[in-house]
Amino acid sequence: MVFTDDTELALAGASALVNTLDGEQELLPDVAALDEFVRTWGWTGERDHDNAELQAVRDLRPRLRRLWELDEEGVVELVNELLREANALPQLVKHDRWDYHLHATPSQAPLATRMAVEAAMAFVDVVRTKELSRLRICAADDCDSVAVDLSKNRSKRFCDGGCGNRAAVAAYRARKAKAGRVALARKDATIHGKVDTVHAAVVQQEEHSVELSKRRLR
Ligand SMILES: [Zn+2]
Ligand SMILES: [Zn+2]
Repeated sequence: MVFTDDTELALAGASALVNTLDGEQELLPDVAALDEFVRTWGWTGERDHDNAELQAVRDLRPRLRRLWELDEEGVVELVNELLREANALPQLVKHDRWDYHLHATPSQAPLATRMAVEAAMAFVDVVRTKELSRLRICAADDCDSVAVDLSKNRSKRFCDGGCGNRAAVAAYRARKAKAGRVALARKDATIHGKVDTVHAAVVQQEEHSVELSKRRLR
């Protein structure tokens, strides 16, 4: 484990939120989609279930994406800004299946504020442990999704949206296609080889019959 459970969950939630704006594709098109997202990622606390709440959450995404793009100094500035704006006040709490962890906003704070502060608190840990190098933007050419590399050997290159699998399949197909081309070239060479042998035999036969006819002429 690189960070504490709650920090890792918060980082995963923040990544997932940033990734709901997938290029031009809006994955939070309506309140129902937001409800589903909040349920999936286990955000607790009060909800408004209205368009203002949805819009505030959508507007938070480009700000959170900056956390993946900025250098240490920039991240620190943005984290402090997010905490300041929300008047964050860290308190140890225990709820649902979670043991003591930090909440820095009351459960009545707007959803977008709670999401912003939760992400900011998680990034406090990332900065303090000098682990900003674990933040990733997907290595796939056609994907800008963000991710956090929590692997032991820091080998994660792709997002969790299936780009790793897609890249593996593409590499496999490329290897197979190359192997196919090599086999075809070999077969081709074999056929040519046979033709050459037959050709040589024909030439030999011709020379032989020429020899015979020469002998007959003698
Ligand atoms: Zn909590
Ligand atoms: Zn990706």
